[in-house]
Amino acid sequence: MSFEVKEKDILARIGKLKTKTVTVETPLLFPVINPSIQPISPKRLKEEFGFKAIITNAYILLKRYQNKPIEQGLHSFLNFDGAVMTDSGAYQILVYGNVEVTQREIVNYQEGIGSDIATILDIPTGWKITKDQATETVKETLRRAKAFFENKKREDILWVGPVQGGRYLDLVAQSAVEMSKLPFQIHALGSPTEIMESYRFDVLVDMILTAKMHLPVERPFHLFGAGHPVMFSLAVALGCDLFDSAAYALYARENRYMTENGTWRLSELDFFPCRCPKCSGNKPKEIWAMTAKEREVFLAEHNLHVCQAELNRIKQAIRDGRLWEHMEMRAHGHPALLSALKKLKNYENLIEKQSPTVKRSGLFFFDSYDLSRPEVVHYRNRLQEYYSQPKNALVLLLVPQTRSKPFHRAREFKKIKQVLKGLNSESRRAIHVCFYAAPFGVTPIDLDEVYPLSQHETALPLDKETIDYVAEQVANYVKRSKYREVVLLHDPQNWNGIVKKALRKMCLLKQIPFEHVNLDVKRQKAILTRLEIILNKNRANNRDPS
Ligand SMILES: [Zn+2]
Repeated sequence: MSFEVKEKDILARIGKLKTKTVTVETPLLFPVINPSIQPISPKRLKEEFGFKAIITNAYILLKRYQNKPIEQGLHSFLNFDGAVMTDSGAYQILVYGNVEVTQREIVNYQEGIGSDIATILDIPTGWKITKDQATETVKETLRRAKAFFENKKREDILWVGPVQGGRYLDLVAQSAVEMSKLPFQIHALGSPTEIMESYRFDVLVDMILTAKMHLPVERPFHLFGAGHPVMFSLAVALGCDLFDSAAYALYARENRYMTENGTWRLSELDFFPCRCPKCSGNKPKEIWAMTAKEREVFLAEHNLHVCQAELNRIKQAIRDGRLWEHMEMRAHGHPALLSALKKLKNYENLIEKQSPTVKRSGLFFFDSYDLSRPEVVHYRNRLQEYYSQPKNALVLLLVPQTRSKPFHRAREFKKIKQVLKGLNSESRRAIHVCFYAAPFGVTPIDLDEVYPLSQHETALPLDKETIDYVAEQVANYVKRSKYREVVLLHDPQNWNGIVKKALRKMCLLKQIPFEHVNLDVKRQKAILTRLEIILNKNRANNRDPS
């Protein structure tokens, strides 16, 4: 097996996964096939919709068709020449409590039919169970995983090792650590279906990231049952490479119309917000007038087009380095998704460590949720670890962000530059200009052109959390620096006095002088004169004793 990563953004990756039949590109959605009630044939899924992989349930195949798929081979049986993944019946255990098959039987069966990707018979943890019961599912799944490696015969199948533990994150971590010691080619988050059905995407973030941080990064990660395009970008951003969806068909059966922003009942729609081959030239009322079976096929096909289109947008966003922006846009489709986005703050360092932080394009900064972006966290950590003020700098002059970038070339900064030029040489040498700016906090003038400090667009006015964040960054910067004096060019209109307050407090703590000049467009000249006086004053007291 090989999984080769081609592009990355956040924890998402575009990769090539080689199976024994074909090589497929991730992120990859496997439509769920139920041969006995399949609205769209697997052959059409590949040829018309471009799905190169499907998933079906080996337990259902065994119960309903016994040896037929073994005799014909799975690919011929399904008439599909792409990659076929099989699930083992774990979902049936979750729903019915048990299955009438042993792990050895279902493993042999998957080897017999020739799945490309196959799953051991794990015990799903589920949602409404006690910690003791959850512990049992983790232990039993691990026991089965170990036993599996003693029995398996074929070497050309990619085997999935599911991580259990449910909402008990310590169990998820333990399960991931133990499963990662076994030579599975793929891992999966076991049975998150109930969590997704109850819209607990915030819990899903905890579960996925807890599993991911304890699993080998080079093994692809599958999220079972994630079939709605509204949450694809979140899951992909968290590092899920593979998904499967029965939702396209289940929703269709219930007359539900998927979009990348949510779900509509067909009966409620007056207009189709989609130009897929099905929706183009049709009106909801005409589809509503069809027979139930025709309607189901229509909706299943539309739903699949929507899923595929959203995955294409996500891949393009990964390539462009804009997955965060895309995920944030989708997160506003439902409050539960926004809760999940907020949760990312708890994992910002983990995400930063694995994310590329230099992009082809600039960043869009909308609001305080974006403070958890890996680029923001990366800059904060680097500034703290590696940056110190220039050698001669004794006075920190803090200037507010300008509309155009880089800041030091902006029109608003020109006048200040002139003031600095006019100062006596001793003062000029002692002054170090830094900009206070959202979202990065402090930008020393000497780093002003370093990516992405000048390559971002920020929505104004800033929200309170963002202002608080910048104030905290500015104060922390002063705390760890060795300036003898701080001068703030205070912009009360955009910063509400919060940066000023934080600085005054910090300077008091460090016992260094703090001065500020209020910016006011009507009194520009007077302001510059006052700034000049403050900066030009006798700095004999400030001279570095060394
Ligand atoms: Zn459509």
